[in-house]
Amino acid sequence: MSLYNLALANPRYAVMLTGLPLLIVLEAIAPFLEGDGRWRHTAKNLVIGAIYVATTAVLGLGIVWLLHATGRNHWGLFNHVSVPLWIQVVLGVLALDFADYWRHRADHTFRLLWRFHRLHHSDPLMEASTTIRNHPGAAITILAPRAILIPLLGLDPLVLIIHAPLALAGQLYHHSNLKLPPILERVLGYFIVTPSQHFAHHAKIRKYADSQFGVILILWDKLFGTLLQTPDRAATPMGVRGYDDAASQSIFGMLASMFEKKKPATGLPLAAVGLDARTQEPG
Ligand SMILES: [Zn+2]
Repeated sequence: MSLYNLALANPRYAVMLTGLPLLIVLEAIAPFLEGDGRWRHTAKNLVIGAIYVATTAVLGLGIVWLLHATGRNHWGLFNHVSVPLWIQVVLGVLALDFADYWRHRADHTFRLLWRFHRLHHSDPLMEASTTIRNHPGAAITILAPRAILIPLLGLDPLVLIIHAPLALAGQLYHHSNLKLPPILERVLGYFIVTPSQHFAHHAKIRKYADSQFGVILILWDKLFGTLLQTPDRAATPMGVRGYDDAASQSIFGMLASMFEKKKPATGLPLAAVGLDARTQEPG
């Protein structure tokens, strides 16, 4: 199958192959934060991202199998209760986004999951390419909510076909380093996660890193009390304390970081930040 057909066959890849390059170009034209060495940084994220996306593509075959098996064997709620397809789609997309919120909270709560998730957070910048800066091992956790909800709710493939590109588009947007009109950010911020909220989740300050867990909708953060007033974005250091050095930021260092135990917090004058002395690492 050609790359073009593959993109058409899976709208998630269509979003990836159009949205990501577009945002990278826009970030170069109108960045929220300017910085040196951006291209080198983006290129490293794309290398890690390619490994991660390839892993999800392979594991995604299991999700496709599960969708077929669910339909064939009449597993789950919607295969036993008569619900119009469009309501199944709305409820299914909401359920997947709700599950993603709790999966993300688990990533920050359990040390094993954090070891995989840490690579995403050790990015000293936040830009669209950060979206796919994930450890290949994190693909298992990220696909887990789908693997659980498909047979449990009896999800139709259409739910995944709609949810997957929406979730990716939302993540590309809320990680982007773009100078956007404040009014747009404010209006969108009532409904979905925006960069002006999500950057706080990438802060080196524990209080903020343990907030803003939403993927598409901001609703879950509002409901469960994890939406904090954000600090000044331009003055907020991002990354994970102890993982700023060149070795930790190399491709090998990033992939190997999951084997490392918790590192002491270094390199940040805590008194200047005036918050807490803990690293973002759980436990
Ligand atoms: Zn996170």
